[in-house]
Amino acid sequence: MKILLAASEVVPFAKTGGLADVAGALPLALEGLGQEVAVSLPRYKAISDSKFKLQRLKEDISYSVIGNKIKVYFIENDNYFNRDGLYGDKNADYKDNLTRFSYYSKRTLELLKEINFKPDIIHCHDWQSALIPVYLKTIYNDDPFYKNIKTALTVHNIGYQGIFAKEEFPKLGLDWSLFNIEGLEFYGKLNILKGGIEFCDIINTVSPTYSKEIQTKEFGFGLEGVLNKRRERVFGILNGLDYSIWNPEGDKFIAKNYSLGSIEDKYKNKEDLQKVCKLPAKLDVPLFGIVSRLAQQKGFDILADCFDTICKMDLQLVILGTGDLKYHLILQNMVRKYPKVVSLHLKFDDPLAHKIYAGSDMFLMPSKYEPCGLGQMIAFKYGTIPLVFKTGGLTDTVSQENGFIFDTYDKNELIKTIKKAIVAFKNKKKWRMLQTLAMQCNFSWEESAKKYLQLYAKAKS
Ligand code: ADP
Repeated sequence: MKILLAASEVVPFAKTGGLADVAGALPLALEGLGQEVAVSLPRYKAISDSKFKLQRLKEDISYSVIGNKIKVYFIENDNYFNRDGLYGDKNADYKDNLTRFSYYSKRTLELLKEINFKPDIIHCHDWQSALIPVYLKTIYNDDPFYKNIKTALTVHNIGYQGIFAKEEFPKLGLDWSLFNIEGLEFYGKLNILKGGIEFCDIINTVSPTYSKEIQTKEFGFGLEGVLNKRRERVFGILNGLDYSIWNPEGDKFIAKNYSLGSIEDKYKNKEDLQKVCKLPAKLDVPLFGIVSRLAQQKGFDILADCFDTICKMDLQLVILGTGDLKYHLILQNMVRKYPKVVSLHLKFDDPLAHKIYAGSDMFLMPSKYEPCGLGQMIAFKYGTIPLVFKTGGLTDTVSQENGFIFDTYDKNELIKTIKKAIVAFKNKKKWRMLQTLAMQCNFSWEESAKKYLQLYAKAKS
């Protein structure tokens, strides 16, 4: 199959979140399955010629090669993309984001014809490339080159939809007849993600459960009705995990490498973590790790409500993260009160994250909603047992067999589950069983890519 992946951020070129990881890893996995893949993204300022060995194709198009022969095309336009940020600066989103990403979408489609690359599928991601299905079925509809090209749209987080004022609609170059309830209109405003959902051939999100949740009022951010209308075409595929980065057997950041066969060595990492974090060196006290954005979405509202209770339990807690100032302050206060229990690191620190995954006994991730979630998957691989709220991708990956899961979003349920986990930890045999099942979980990109191929086949049917 010929596939074009269109995304506004792709690892290693540009990244602000999980979308970039998916858009970087999926093409490689698809190529590994024998598919012909190309990628298109805007050329931001940080994508330098020298760092990425760019080659020139046209005056406004350069490219780089990843994997064996995947061409990554960069759409250039100094006015729109030669800026430090991808979507905005630290104060606000860029005011011309609609024009920027509609330009990117159109230019991507034109490029395909210019280089005579006719994909079977264009795989779009989030609102920034969601105009591609719209343009394909409107202004490019009568051009024979584009006939039979199908589109898939992945929604990574329905909270971000690309909503603009009605007055901006003419910038898209589309007929006003499309500004209606069956098209891009959304409560009197312009909604780009909605347009993509209406016009693409198939839709998916990054876990099966989240694909159902976003069809409900609670999680749909207003798009539940539109998705529900197309429910026969809405699917969920879990993201994969890059095991070349996340594997305790070869991890360069941890004190002692280990695997399921040498799991006793995990405890050398616990000792190391306790030392690094200046916590008492006690192997028999359960150590809980958190590596997370400090945001309400990640469960910090209920955590904040019960930190005092948690810190009085027989446990240790290592927290790495940055985010809302409110949670920074609450957590700093906790450290002052319980210096022998809590170790806090308010920063982004990849090496320390690896140490926490390896050295903790449990990984705390009580997210209120979670489209997919990577933390729990990483924790599994390190024999660190996740404790999560039953939502989205956490529902699809964590069960009583490999972790601890509570199903009412409430601080008392969280406390109860932590207590249960501490009791289980004391039972060495049971704990080893949990670790074995956790470490045997496989969330490789190859598995996800196979599911994407099935999705593309459905888009064509
Ligand atoms: P998100 O909603 O933030 O994308 P995920 O669980 O999908 O949540 O992925 C978060 C990723 O970022 C994980 O790999 C996690 O280890 C990493 N991460 C989050 N915060 C930090 C931090 N402060 N330092 C290092 N890594 C972090």
